[in-house]
Amino acid sequence: MSYVIGLKCKECGHRVPVSPVHVCQACFGPYEVEYDYAAMKGKVTRESIAAGPKSLWRYKDFLPVAEPKTGFFSGFTPFRKAVRLGKELGCSDLWIKDDSCNYPTYSYKERVVSVAISKAIEFGFDTVGCASTGNLANSTAAHAAMAGLRCYVMIPHDLEQGKVLGSLIFGPTMVRIRGTYDDVNRLCTEIADKYGWAIVNVNLRPYYTEGAKTYGFEIAEQFGWRLPQHTVVPTAGGTILPKIYKAYREFIELGLVEDNGPKIYSAQAAGCNPVVKAIHKGIDIIEPQKPNTIAKSIAIGNPADGYYVWHAVKDSGGWGESATDPEIVAAIKLLARTEGIWTEPAGGTTLAVAMKLIQQGRIPKNESIVVSITGNGLKTLEAVQNDLVQPEAIEAKISEFDELLARQGSQNLSEAKAADRASRKPVSVI
Ligand SMILES: *Cc1c(COP(=O)(O)O)cnc(C)c1O
Ligand SMILES: [Zn+2]
Repeated sequence: MSYVIGLKCKECGHRVPVSPVHVCQACFGPYEVEYDYAAMKGKVTRESIAAGPKSLWRYKDFLPVAEPKTGFFSGFTPFRKAVRLGKELGCSDLWIKDDSCNYPTYSYKERVVSVAISKAIEFGFDTVGCASTGNLANSTAAHAAMAGLRCYVMIPHDLEQGKVLGSLIFGPTMVRIRGTYDDVNRLCTEIADKYGWAIVNVNLRPYYTEGAKTYGFEIAEQFGWRLPQHTVVPTAGGTILPKIYKAYREFIELGLVEDNGPKIYSAQAAGCNPVVKAIHKGIDIIEPQKPNTIAKSIAIGNPADGYYVWHAVKDSGGWGESATDPEIVAAIKLLARTEGIWTEPAGGTTLAVAMKLIQQGRIPKNESIVVSITGNGLKTLEAVQNDLVQPEAIEAKISEFDELLARQGSQNLSEAKAADRASRKPVSVI
């Protein structure tokens, strides 16, 4: 049973049947999947969802796929109360949605790729590909390997080793392009047309983007069929933020959660913040930038869906802020030290921005707050390696250990921790 009606242009409302197209024939706006919510009412319930698999496919009724073909172990990631981090920030109801452990390549991209590749197989494609800042390439390559499809991943030339090797290991053809992500994306549009491949975030974009809703559905279900008052979300191309908002609206529409006016906030790196700039200006024109930040996975200077991020943020009553590279690194370390989660710079950006919004008083400390952690720190060692002090090596002798302790004795463990807390600078503690 599918509740999909077809594709509908987000701008002019032009409708076409389900097919591998993404640009409106009438006005060049983006197509989006349209569902028959009236038919879903009373049929899609909390119980029917809870009876589904413990993967993103438990929300299949909200996705444009007849039969899942991959992603059987993706999604349904932890949603945790961040008690220790909350204490540091003075927040009593702080939560983390943690896609840093999403399966199999440790980012939110499993969600969009699972839907896009399932749809690509349904359409009869035997070759898939993507334009990526790293995580999408990792995920597309892994899911293509699982599904037995040919795969081409296109990336900017200067990505972190964890992202490059993290794709190559799955055996795709990787093309490194001398240019920014925006150059890569432009090339991929031509490739999709010329070679007739399923480029997941280009010609399969209407299906791809729907997968991102599952991040929002999971927050709502795991929060006890409630919506958090504040959700802070990173913005790159602008897929996930509007789709979390859409997920919340769909659950409200079907009566699965109460409408408490959930506010959505966009987080970008200061070195690539075209959407946040537009939010601050109050004008929905996104001026392209040339990225310069360690947060490479979200460094998209000309985001395809930036306009929709702007509107979701404004419509919800949220806001946007950006974080500098040092603030991003400090937030990565704070999250690791307080919650045992190692995220990549995208997650550091989101936490740093959440802290800013709390400091500004835009997000009240006693209300429910979700920080969206979307990627894993193990893939971006480069981001922190200059900020962590590597301990000196000693011989395996108790006397050397005693001496080491004595050398560091001026600072005992608790003092060191207090100093760390105060300064946020690295201290090596045994
Ligand atoms: C892709 C990505 C995002 C968000 O990208 P959108 O294009 O805005 O959906 C956020 N975090 C990480 C780690 C990513 O890889
Ligand atoms: Zn149109």
